[in-house]
Amino acid sequence: MSASSTGAIPTDYQPAPDLLKDRVILVTGAGSGIGRGAALSFARHGATVILLGRTVNRLEAVYDEIDAAGYPEAAIVPLDLQGAKQEDYELVAERIRESFGRLDGLLHNASLLGQLTPIELYDAETWNKLMQVNLNGPFLLTRACIGLLREATDASLLFTSSSVGRKGRAHWGAYSVSKFATEGLMQVLADELDDERHQVRVNSINPGATRTAMRQLAYPGENPGNNPAPEDIMTPYLYLMGPDARAITGQAFDAQPK
Ligand code: NAP
Repeated sequence: MSASSTGAIPTDYQPAPDLLKDRVILVTGAGSGIGRGAALSFARHGATVILLGRTVNRLEAVYDEIDAAGYPEAAIVPLDLQGAKQEDYELVAERIRESFGRLDGLLHNASLLGQLTPIELYDAETWNKLMQVNLNGPFLLTRACIGLLREATDASLLFTSSSVGRKGRAHWGAYSVSKFATEGLMQVLADELDDERHQVRVNSINPGATRTAMRQLAYPGENPGNNPAPEDIMTPYLYLMGPDARAITGQAFDAQPK
């Protein structure tokens, strides 16, 4: 399947307890919010998770949670996507190759919200920072890891989008534009990596309104209890990361019904 379209997760999908056994999965922004939820969930289902992020003590806390639960031992990769250069990403891939010899999944999750302001007032420096973290970082990390993913027999490359990455909305500025570009990067990669062996599938997921620091920043007046916690939206992430989604590529998914 090479067409890009809107995908649907089977509504009755139940991930097997050992769905991700023996898989090595890299998660960016794994120290908090949805990334933390995904890392814990992937580990619970058997994956060795590589926790990448900029705040080491948060990554260590997730590492400890995984350890205490008796899941496969995680690894920590401190990296600030804002300042990282191409060679830093290449070093990450080299370290993964040395330590694990494989990579079966990559969840691009880390992002910044930036300003909620009209384009005519948008601060140029903030714009560049968002493009660096939300778009250029995922591009460079993907570029560095493609070789490893191609060597896996069933690899999943998953980008995190947003509803404003599929339909523009006033005042969402660089965040919205970076998510549109993320969808574009996903589609280009899905087409490039599509082959009969379905070795690397590439999709995007929009988590939908989720109880995290970013959501609170975007909607300060909202009652956080009205939104699901990250752990409540993990079934679609598991589906797309695991073998049940094999051959599904180039599609834009929603983690929650719209
Ligand atoms: P969050 O709570 O703000 O977490 C974002 C994560 O990204 C944090 O772990 C953060 O690290 C990391 N990060 C930010 N800048 C980074 C940098 N320069 N280098 C490395 N890591 C960095 O956000 P979230 O709500 O969990 O969002 C996760 C993803 O879902 C994002 O892609 C977001 O756009 C998307 N999303 C969220 C919602 C929602 O309602 N929550 C809705 C639609 C889409 P620190 O812990 O160090 O801050």
